[in-house]
Amino acid sequence: MTEFFAQATLGLQSALAFLAAFVTFDLSKRLQAKLTVDSAFYLIGASLALSTGLCSLAVLGVDSQNLLFDLGYHPLLAFGVWLGTAVLCSLGLAVGCRSRSAALSTWMGSGLLACGIVVSQVVFIHALGLSPGVIWSTQTLIAATCLAAVGCAAALWFQSEVRARIRHGHLAWQAVSALLLAIAIVGSQAAVINAAALDGQVSSAWSVRVPSASMAMLATVGSIGLLVMLLLLSQIELRLKASLSLAKGELEKQSLRDPLTQLPNRSMFEGMLAQCVQKADATGGRLALLLINLDGFKPINEMFGHRAGDRVLREIAARLRSMAQPHMVARLGSDEFLLLLPDDPSAEEASSVATRVLASTCLPCRIDGREAIVTSSIGIAKYPKHGALSTLIAHADAAMRVAKASGGATYCFFEASMVSGLREQTELLRDLRCALEKGELELFYQPKIHAPTGEITGAEALMRWQHPKLGLVGPSIFIPIAERYGLIGALGNWLIDEACRQIRTWRDGGLRMRVAINLSVHQLRQPDLVDRIARALKERDINPGLLTCEITESVAMEDAEGTIEIFKRLTQLGVSVSIDDFGTGHSSLAYLRKLPTSELKIDRSFVLDLETSEDARKVASAIINLAKSLDLKVVAEGVETEGQNKILREFGCDQLQGYLFAKPMSAKALALWAMDDVGPRTMNFRSSLFKETRPPELV
Ligand code: C2E
Ligand code: MG
Ligand code: MG
Repeated sequence: MTEFFAQATLGLQSALAFLAAFVTFDLSKRLQAKLTVDSAFYLIGASLALSTGLCSLAVLGVDSQNLLFDLGYHPLLAFGVWLGTAVLCSLGLAVGCRSRSAALSTWMGSGLLACGIVVSQVVFIHALGLSPGVIWSTQTLIAATCLAAVGCAAALWFQSEVRARIRHGHLAWQAVSALLLAIAIVGSQAAVINAAALDGQVSSAWSVRVPSASMAMLATVGSIGLLVMLLLLSQIELRLKASLSLAKGELEKQSLRDPLTQLPNRSMFEGMLAQCVQKADATGGRLALLLINLDGFKPINEMFGHRAGDRVLREIAARLRSMAQPHMVARLGSDEFLLLLPDDPSAEEASSVATRVLASTCLPCRIDGREAIVTSSIGIAKYPKHGALSTLIAHADAAMRVAKASGGATYCFFEASMVSGLREQTELLRDLRCALEKGELELFYQPKIHAPTGEITGAEALMRWQHPKLGLVGPSIFIPIAERYGLIGALGNWLIDEACRQIRTWRDGGLRMRVAINLSVHQLRQPDLVDRIARALKERDINPGLLTCEITESVAMEDAEGTIEIFKRLTQLGVSVSIDDFGTGHSSLAYLRKLPTSELKIDRSFVLDLETSEDARKVASAIINLAKSLDLKVVAEGVETEGQNKILREFGCDQLQGYLFAKPMSAKALALWAMDDVGPRTMNFRSSLFKETRPPELV
């Protein structure tokens, strides 16, 4: 029976030692190298767990000796031992249990813990107040301390290796460390008891004492309760922290994603772009950044509602994602996306991706059985050619604006002249102010072809700026600046005079060329616009029928009554009026009927898709039929392929204009072509454009 109790007590002691060691490691593994408030709490918890375990074991160790006299502990002394042990343990753990401790601190920590283990047992025996006193074997005590130090060192080392290297199965490995520490505690405390000897009749010196049996009961139940509570608290805290960091991670992830399309947002994309730039710098590679802005998205929101607009954006996002490498597409904002080509793309590769993006975005999106069509304007900026990381997106944006301004549904590479920054704009504005005086502005002419015969019937005058440093700058760059800073009036006046001068020069040379000029919204607001045109025509003695004024659909619709009035006066003058970029604005049919115009120009975006999209064909055919039913001429601009040419002719389009026939050229080049048939393509000028004789001086 006694044997059984001895076994049971040893089992209980081992279990208690293991539990105390496990809880100690569970808390101390969160100690940081720097002592923070959090760390201090973990340290206090861990040292209380260990000292409670050690003191309980000390009490149980004494109790298991089955001495034949009554034992009792001095309560204050017992409490003092518990506290003192806690202090020693906290020192030992603080030194030996910080993250990845060095060998020396492991040994120092183990030494302190060993002292805690041995001293707690020794002092607990003293707390019994035995008289005569206990006789100690110093050698055995030293041996017990050494055993405890080695055991603690092994346990601490193992635990620190587990922390540093092993993440999975952490608790199982922690149990191994706890087992090592438990063996050290139980073994060395047993050795301490063996080191104590009693001599003769012994009695307790304390008058107030807690009986040993009660103390053993308290040590068992109280310490198990406390340790289990600490363990539970520690685990609950661990789980709370884990779910908190999971939630934080999820939040962080969400803050980097666009909630509508789930694509990376601008800030995530910028981080990724910076990494790609770093990589490109290291390898000498290149990048190409495409900024994609949807054309005609606003009307979809207005016509189909915002939910439909959202679905279109999601659909476009999915298409873009399927065309790019993972994480290389982002939504920049409303209807704008970014796509990065990170693998050293050539200009041709970037163009080919842009072409595919154009083709993919203009495929119709089905919404509740209806089809919504958008196209896109793409700006491409290359790294490092087109600027540093900080300007790359802005430069792609500048290029996109040019693509959009030239009619949309196209892509455009960045050029230095497309500067959008305030500084560059100010410089451009400064240069533009002198451009007129310095004669840097020039009109280029793009022929218009009579569709049934293929003959040249006229030309559209398109402004160019021969900038001394930037080279030839297109109107999409400087017209908006001129409009914004009040220079458009002067530019527009020059345009009218210059176009009339050129018509006269050609006319004198025998070429009766019809010329179309583009009027900006600001010119329409000039009260003397019509008078000025009339004066210029009169001064040059030009038949007003040779001049056409092109006004974009959106501008024409802006101030309906005012526009009708100006159109009427121009028509009365004999000048033709043409609605440019038709199909992109919101013309009402009733209003269109009232407008005294003679021509509609189908916007380039519809022409672009003629060969690939049934819907684009339907729109083009509808515009042509509408024009015919309103008795208007119809011109298709941006014809680039034979296929588009064929379809438009079949639809009965009156006139065609585009790179397929000729790009905009200088007046001189056009005249030479007319005279000598030396031109981009072998096309004839309509014979009515010529006088009987062809004098040599045309330009
Ligand atoms: P717009 O009046 O619609 O002119 C047509 C634009 O499309 C021109 O660009 C022309 O070069 C381009 N284009 C013609 N055929 C093709 C083709 O086959 N493919 C492609 N990709 N493009 C083609 P540009 O000259 O850059 O002019 C852009 C816009 O700037 C014009 O659009 C017009 O709105 C404005 N603009 C041009 N000159 C003047 C001007 O003197 N005064 C004003 N107020 N605006 C002007
Ligand atoms: Mg035009
Ligand atoms: Mg146009």
